[in-house]
Amino acid sequence: MMENTEEKNPLTIRVNILTKLWTGDIDGKNSERRLTGIIGSIRWWMEALVRGLDGFACDPTDTDSKSLYRKCEFDSSTFKKKFNETGSYRKAFEESLKSICPVCQIFGCGGLSSAFRWVKKEEDNSSFTLELIPLRPVSQELWWLLDKTLHIITTYGAVGGKITQKPYPNSDINYGIVEFAYNFSNLHQKKLSDIKTWIKDIGGRQAVNSSDLPNFKYFWFIPGFHLKKDEINKFLRLDDNGNKINTNLEDDEEDFYEFLRGNIGESKKIFSFPGKSIEIDEYSPWKKLHELFYSTIEIERLWGYVRDEKDVNKVESILSRLTRKEIIKEKIIIGVDLIEQL
Ligand SMILES: [Zn+2]
Repeated sequence: MMENTEEKNPLTIRVNILTKLWTGDIDGKNSERRLTGIIGSIRWWMEALVRGLDGFACDPTDTDSKSLYRKCEFDSSTFKKKFNETGSYRKAFEESLKSICPVCQIFGCGGLSSAFRWVKKEEDNSSFTLELIPLRPVSQELWWLLDKTLHIITTYGAVGGKITQKPYPNSDINYGIVEFAYNFSNLHQKKLSDIKTWIKDIGGRQAVNSSDLPNFKYFWFIPGFHLKKDEINKFLRLDDNGNKINTNLEDDEEDFYEFLRGNIGESKKIFSFPGKSIEIDEYSPWKKLHELFYSTIEIERLWGYVRDEKDVNKVESILSRLTRKEIIKEKIIIGVDLIEQL
């Protein structure tokens, strides 16, 4: 019987840090916040994936009660009503969960705790373990989502802050590439088609997602490839000093580039990792071990995201102009296709 795993033993995820990792505060501290930073990043990727699967993921930063995308809130009055009707705590809880998006079902929201207690253990410069202690039964579908999110981050993505930073021209500094090593194989047996059916009814709000929020369908990835700083500037239509190249673009073109460039407090939408070497700490005794054991993870990668299919085509054509067309054609993976391989 696997419908709801009652497994209460902690699950261990090994987090191997393959580059520098920034999970600090804006004021520059980068020690205590590591766990929150990592969890925040996992959540961000999962939100995008859920939207890419045509499910609903709320915007946890949106607190406007009139907004369609506002963060979820566990409705305790529905819970009480259902409990009075059925007399079953479990049934009432499951009913109330239906109005909570899948991401909040895992990470929690107002009135609902996280499905797990996340405990960070055993740490050295280049790795630590995350223990997930389930606080309530976790459905196979939610395990599937967590499993695939961690896989996507390891293989294609990045976590933490500073991942757009390339401080010096052509700098080879990488931030945020981690490998999540875990085995959830006995926790779910769901297929993509099961998840697509399930996700439609979760979280309510008719699965409306804002086109301004990251949607995995419109992510693009080029593993084993990167762009240098000057190429990224060209991609964003910026000069060498980072100033906008002044040309008369149509309004929607200008809007497209504004979106790609980001703003204060809002990230650029292109992320490049040269991945030449493992830069945890030149003097770390673990460095050599990492090179030996984790060489299967390709650090070099380029990825980004846009808001719709039309913009994906634009990105492909800009990239083709910047570098050899064949490379882009052969190597680029669009989120909508990647989903089908999950
Ligand atoms: Zn939510």
